Amino acid sequence: MISEVTLEKSRQMYEKAKTLIPGGVSSPVRAIKPYPFYTASANGSKIKDLDGNEYIDYCLAYGPALLGHNHPVIKEAIKAQLDKGWLYGTPTELEVTLAEKIAGYYPSIDMLRFVSTGTEATMSALRLARGFTGRNKFIKIEGGFHGAHDAVLVKAGSGATTLGEPDSLGIPADFTKYTLQAPYNDIEAMSELVEKNRNELAAVIIEPVLGNIGPITPLPGYLEELRKLTLENDVLLIFDEVITGFRLAMGGAQEYFGVVPDMTTLGKIVGGGLPIGVFGGKREIMEMISPSGPVYQAGTFSGSPCSVAAGIAVLDYLEQEKIHEKVNSKGDYIRAVLAEIVEDEGLDYSVCGIASMFKIFFGAEPHNYQEALKCDKEGYLAFFHRMLASGVFLPPSQFETNFVSAAHSEEDIEKTLKAYTENL
Ligand code: PLP
Repeated sequence: MISEVTLEKSRQMYEKAKTLIPGGVSSPVRAIKPYPFYTASANGSKIKDLDGNEYIDYCLAYGPALLGHNHPVIKEAIKAQLDKGWLYGTPTELEVTLAEKIAGYYPSIDMLRFVSTGTEATMSALRLARGFTGRNKFIKIEGGFHGAHDAVLVKAGSGATTLGEPDSLGIPADFTKYTLQAPYNDIEAMSELVEKNRNELAAVIIEPVLGNIGPITPLPGYLEELRKLTLENDVLLIFDEVITGFRLAMGGAQEYFGVVPDMTTLGKIVGGGLPIGVFGGKREIMEMISPSGPVYQAGTFSGSPCSVAAGIAVLDYLEQEKIHEKVNSKGDYIRAVLAEIVEDEGLDYSVCGIASMFKIFFGAEPHNYQEALKCDKEGYLAFFHRMLASGVFLPPSQFETNFVSAAHSEEDIEKTLKAYTENL
């Protein structure tokens, strides 16, 4: 059992960190209360803190580590690239190779551009959608997360037709007045909003599986109906596959569900754990990007050679080793056993997820943001701490997805399920 006493070095580091870095962390969700553990190293399915405690990791860097941490194939690719230099500011063959591979897996992508984060990918995709259509408005899903840029940082609106209110100080309301919100899994509300705004609407952007308040999965037919609706109304459909891309399948959610959007954003897994983002789409749309066209986009670190080399290595390995079959069946097994545990314990909780994503909701299974908010967040947080003390690191929020990786052994999974039984 890991106790307060055995987290002393992390506690001391937090005291120092919070004088230098707001909240002691470089991204808010990492701010576990009363203080986070500070990581010393990670390998395979395990992450180790400064005090030497080891946890089985289901946070997995919030998604990129589909193969687990420190995977030798990715490490070798990065090392080989380091010997040749790691930043050029000129185009490389590596980018062309990775672009060709990605385009081969994603039917929605004829052309793409590399950026450094998922945030940049969705920011650029939305700018491009607006530039291409000459329209300003876009619809996002309530509770959908597309990174931390101004236009998408909008609270779930009170009604489907409400114009966006910024979700953070420092964002002028004018910057989000074109951001509309629709509830997930509700095609009627979406139709109404699309039809009402169609002449001003550039795009609908959606995480095909809501990963940032979930996982919440699409009801049968929802994504297909959304595709039909956007086509009929001449509105671009953007799938934000920063989480689902290369996770549900090589071709992401669009392959898994058989629905092809007009544009796609990727990140996380496709960089093998190094910073990356991708936005891509149909040729006539992508050719609007500078220098081919008038929509500006640029970045010093875009197509960073180590990220791209890691990306090529990870994609080849995923395909050769048929990793999705393996991790997805681990996900199926975990969800099935968790459902039994919940039932045996007589809890009114629900087990959600898809492929290698899973979560216990402390409440009924949610189908949208408003339903997710009804879960017992505090109850989940107390459970999170009990799991951590048992050596299992889950994401520290009811609304962040758990991931299982190719590195999780049967023993890891059985230990984890035992911890669930003891701690629920
Ligand atoms: N889109 C989705 C669906 C995400 O989950 C995230 C991050 O978690 C982003 C975009 C932003 O990506 P990044 O953190 O690389 O900027």
